[in-house]
Amino acid sequence: MPGFELFGEEERKEVNDVLETGILMRYGFDGPRKGIWKSKELESEICKRFGSSYAQLTSSGTAALTTAMAALGIGAGDEVIMPAFTFVASFEAVLSMGAIPVLVDIDKTLTLSPDAVRAAITPKTKCIMPVHMCGSMADLEALQTICNEHKLILLEDACQSIGGTYKGKALGTIGDAGTFSFDFVKTITCGEGGVVMTNHKDVYVKSDAFTDHGHDHLGVDRGADLHPFLGYNFRISELHAAVGLAQIKKLDNFLAIQKKNNQILRSYIEQIPGVSFRLVPDPAGDSYSFLTWFLPSQMKTEKVIEALKKEGILAGNFYWYANNWHYIRKWDHLKNSKSLYPLSAEQQKALIDLQHNNFEKSDDIMSKCISTAISLTWTEDQVHEKGARLFLVLQQALS
Ligand SMILES: *Cc1c(COP(=O)(O)O)cnc(C)c1O
Repeated sequence: MPGFELFGEEERKEVNDVLETGILMRYGFDGPRKGIWKSKELESEICKRFGSSYAQLTSSGTAALTTAMAALGIGAGDEVIMPAFTFVASFEAVLSMGAIPVLVDIDKTLTLSPDAVRAAITPKTKCIMPVHMCGSMADLEALQTICNEHKLILLEDACQSIGGTYKGKALGTIGDAGTFSFDFVKTITCGEGGVVMTNHKDVYVKSDAFTDHGHDHLGVDRGADLHPFLGYNFRISELHAAVGLAQIKKLDNFLAIQKKNNQILRSYIEQIPGVSFRLVPDPAGDSYSFLTWFLPSQMKTEKVIEALKKEGILAGNFYWYANNWHYIRKWDHLKNSKSLYPLSAEQQKALIDLQHNNFEKSDDIMSKCISTAISLTWTEDQVHEKGARLFLVLQQALS
């Protein structure tokens, strides 16, 4: 799965280009930088590779989500519908904008259930934010239809599904805006970084300024830029962008390895009666960074997890239901509205209300779900060996 596994000469070369000039900032210093513009180059590669009209790099995926929301005009009191299974960054970004995260059930796609989304719409709903978890996608057609009917914004959190597609289009380029994360464990990495992609020029122009203190980037130099609106510093550095530039050139290779390893592993697991797989709305678009499978019951799933632990092969197999980071069940800080600074009264109420929400449908899915992370460094022999061991553990645990 993560690009850091295949870090090497190419990354060092790109970073060295920046170290030669010492210009670590992405804007300005036109003379001393001697034509080295790694951030601009990476943005242009992202547009080309993913078919997005515009791309704005940021300092993280969280910053990308925050920037996208600002540029789309999502703020105080607006409700953003998002799934109960995601990474904490999705609701952190919503809260930081003064908006209200409305967490709803997932379905067997492991992403937003369109029915749950419909049921959660209120006059305050402004945006639907599908999160394409673990390398595969939400039912974007159904969600787009809901957005059209209710005049809502579609913002894709594609941070975990770089290289995935839906009906031929790259995930993250289908909604009004979409984001990737390039943090250290994502499919391609900058060390830290992220990007906002959009096909709307105004969303891009706003994102560009918002990530750099509101600078319009139209002056003859930085000092002459105007500030048409407030912004923050969510800039990426040239060193980080340089790493990403080397990584994006390897993406197709990463995806080919993921697909091969994923399919071999699957061929072992699918022989076990009672095991089923995650629903992928467009199977051709899976990025294959994870193989996600279901067992017949929570009890059997826990038994399998115990058996994997005992065999010493639990690493890389994620039981999200019991995980502190990805599922609402363990987000006590969120459900207790534990903020260092005062949240608005309506934000606090929405968070406390989560304690009483019913996530039975999601619990039912997540309690039987295991995701296996697909490594880029496994040899073919190793994948077969892993598959065979997993097969034996499953056969024993389920008999
Ligand atoms: C990683 C991730 C993010 C945020 O990325 P950072 O770059 O770590 O801030 C957002 N959403 C999801 C689903 C992620 O997995």
